[in-house]
Amino acid sequence: MKIIMLGAPGAGKGTQAKMIADKYDIPHISTGDIFRANIKNGTALGMEAKGYMDQGKLVPDELTVKILLDRVAKDDCKHGYVLDGFPRTIPQAEVLDKALTELNDKIDYAINVDVPDENIIRRMSGRRACLNCGATYHIAHVPPKTEGICDRCGNELILRDDDKEETVKNRLTVYHEQTQPLIDFYTAKGVLKDVDGTQDMQVVFDNIIACLEK
Ligand SMILES: [Zn+2]
Repeated sequence: MKIIMLGAPGAGKGTQAKMIADKYDIPHISTGDIFRANIKNGTALGMEAKGYMDQGKLVPDELTVKILLDRVAKDDCKHGYVLDGFPRTIPQAEVLDKALTELNDKIDYAINVDVPDENIIRRMSGRRACLNCGATYHIAHVPPKTEGICDRCGNELILRDDDKEETVKNRLTVYHEQTQPLIDFYTAKGVLKDVDGTQDMQVVFDNIIACLEK
């Protein structure tokens, strides 16, 4: 079962990807992680990617896909994998699709965790973090015992720049421009599964499983 996760930043797709990977005992693959692993291990592909990064350039899609295919060729992927964070754009999806086709392979499901922008902005702007111990809270869902104070270490809680409304809105704009066209791309391939991501995490997960096991 080869799965791609789609959805806006903050829609909860990373959490769902991990839960799917656990349930089916398949790897949860994020491109960030495999880049880091290749660079750390000094592989030829990793060094090539590092060359671009060191110059402040984007790693070309062809190279990213090569690194990805190298990862999914490993033994632990023989029953499938969950891709999280790639592809993000139509050109990336096309490169991946072409490479998989050459291997006589394909993506089985693209799961779109659908959450309206207003919900995402509300979710993110309620987050509070402790920079001292790394604990995270949410003013509505996981509030600290004392407002603004970390339960664990007593430090002051802050709203991270990443969670500020302005930042979240900017990321959503980029998402709508670049990533949302992927929904049409995978719909045309007949593999898109839309899941309402506004519900409780476990309910979203159950709905995803229902799609996969239909
Ligand atoms: Zn703390």
